[in-house]
Amino acid sequence: MFKTVLVLGHFRGIRMEIHISWVIILALLLVTMSAGLYQQYPNWSLTMAITTATITALLFFASIVAHELGHSLVAIKRGIPVQAITLFIFGGMAQMSRDSDNPNDEFWIAIAGPLVSLALALLFGILALLTAGLYQPITVGLGWLALINLIVAIFNMIPGFPLDGGRVFRAIVWKVTGDARKGINAAVRGGRIVAYLLFAVAFWNMLVIGNLIGGVWLLLIGWFLITMAEAQGRMFDMREQLADVRAGDLADRNVPMVGPDTSVATWIDDAVLRGGYRAFVVGRADQVHGLVTLSDVGKVARERWPDTPVTEIMTRRGALTVVTPETPAQEVLQLMTEQDLNQIPVMAGEQVVGWINREQLLRTIQMHRSLKA
Ligand SMILES: [Zn+2]
Repeated sequence: MFKTVLVLGHFRGIRMEIHISWVIILALLLVTMSAGLYQQYPNWSLTMAITTATITALLFFASIVAHELGHSLVAIKRGIPVQAITLFIFGGMAQMSRDSDNPNDEFWIAIAGPLVSLALALLFGILALLTAGLYQPITVGLGWLALINLIVAIFNMIPGFPLDGGRVFRAIVWKVTGDARKGINAAVRGGRIVAYLLFAVAFWNMLVIGNLIGGVWLLLIGWFLITMAEAQGRMFDMREQLADVRAGDLADRNVPMVGPDTSVATWIDDAVLRGGYRAFVVGRADQVHGLVTLSDVGKVARERWPDTPVTEIMTRRGALTVVTPETPAQEVLQLMTEQDLNQIPVMAGEQVVGWINREQLLRTIQMHRSLKA
């Protein structure tokens, strides 16, 4: 959903990244905080105000990352892989590869983030007290960090999707009623109420107080919350409707294939450019050597294409992710997301019986859904 990202690095297999929209919030925070400090403390130089604002803002974003790491590490511990932590305009987001399948996991994963923020609020608060009187900018920065982390913890505990409190609420309703669907409905409804309240406060800001920028900002946050809440509800519907659909029901029976002795040049000219497929099984239906995709062609220089066989650039059978016709469709989708695959061969024993590519899978899922509805 959030493209145009800058990848900072990896931590415990989690990709740490910054979305371009984050730059806006960083700039906004730096400007308003520097100006605010400069105004509030007449004895500070402008450099002092800007330096304090910069260090404080960076520590604030580190706090958001710590909050998301709280969710992520608990998720990983409970067997749910986390692909990335993204900082974007409305905060941070941990992308988990699948949903919790029981209320206990959901509860602990959701509450871990606010607990980290609360711990940070306490930590910064204590440090602010300990350093009081030493050097004013340090005390001011620490005090602000304590307050903002407390606000993050409290705001996130509001019981509506997509906030952490919504997930906690979902987990509690799920646990009490034993019905996953009821948990989702409660959290989506909570999310809607939160968004409507934000809209009301936004209009009050714009029309009564005359705070236009603050109002627009609240409108945007409300719009973001309601969009995400509805999306989470729909995602659950989709999972439910897909519960009994299997890979064999979705697979395309036309499997694009290329002989192992074919050269890269011939494969591209005769197969790729004609058929419109980006990936091919190398071998025969009952003898699979591997899988070759367009992204593999970069492995050899163009002038070597005519005398390089596709087997030299393919992913070998042993390293290939495949599914069986009985694999649930949800699991296929999950595998593709987790491993960032665009296609998966469907195999019964050593026989290729079908082919699933991501776009076609999503389209087919759509059709299955509309036929069921
Ligand atoms: Zn959170």
